[in-house]
Amino acid sequence: MERATREGAALRRRIDPRGPVDVEAAAGVAGVDVGGWSEARWNELGGQAAPDDGAPEEWLRWLAAHAIGHQMLHGGDGQWRARHGEVDTEAELEAEGFAWALLVDEREAETMRFREPWQVAAFFGVPEKAVLGHWDMPELA
Ligand SMILES: [Zn+2]
Repeated sequence: MERATREGAALRRRIDPRGPVDVEAAAGVAGVDVGGWSEARWNELGGQAAPDDGAPEEWLRWLAAHAIGHQMLHGGDGQWRARHGEVDTEAELEAEGFAWALLVDEREAETMRFREPWQVAAFFGVPEKAVLGHWDMPELA
């Protein structure tokens, strides 16, 4: 897991170290095609449907980052394994950790003094649900 977050953060620094990352640029570096995704591909890649009130763009950014993680860490985007019934829980967690480190800089969030998950979500362009799953909220003084 540490390797996943390290590599995600390293790719972030290469692309766009402040604010919301240009996911397409990151995908270009990793050689992942994120253009023109259908909802079926979205579901395949994510295994997590976007909530009805979720912003599709944020979910697509998250799932693109997840797929880039699979590409860089596991040599594929996970679809093949999923189709063959070999869902690898460890690999999925790594791809999620990678996506978080690629899309969100927790130190920058701290600098911005964010205290609520929606602030982090809006600033970095990620789903609030992802923030709830990954962000260690700062202690309120
Ligand atoms: Zn996956």
